[in-house]
Amino acid sequence: MKKLNKKGFTLIELMIVIAIIAILAAILVPNFVKARAQGQLTACKSNLKNLGTACEMYAADHNGRYPSAYSAIRSEGYMKVLPECPLTPGTSYTYTMRSNPDYYYLLCTSGDHRQAGVKATKFPQFDSQVGLVCPLSSDSTDAASYTVTLP
Ligand SMILES: [Zn+2]
Repeated sequence: MKKLNKKGFTLIELMIVIAIIAILAAILVPNFVKARAQGQLTACKSNLKNLGTACEMYAADHNGRYPSAYSAIRSEGYMKVLPECPLTPGTSYTYTMRSNPDYYYLLCTSGDHRQAGVKATKFPQFDSQVGLVCPLSSDSTDAASYTVTLP
């Protein structure tokens, strides 16, 4: 009588293992993608907050006037390097300044933070009057209410 070969796995056993690995990958990959997007959004918000703080420091040294150009923050030594949105490295933030009364806002227009839950039509921004604004799609507040009206 011939002895059965007990070495190795059967085809069914291999298929079960492959199916389990596929199920685990299907569960974990979307979570990794979302966690990465949320990390990028957090870094982007941190950059905006740091830029806002640098603008306030500039204003404190210049009789309450905000910088007329974004580059003045770096050229006058308030930040050593101007940060970029981690979603698309190489793109700086948009700085818009208006005088009388002094007002500015910084806007992340470089990328789409929708994967992290930001409203599609709104971007993270730092406003000299409101502070950090990042409208999430889960917010019940209407996106229009985030629009700042000038005094
Ligand atoms: Zn960004």
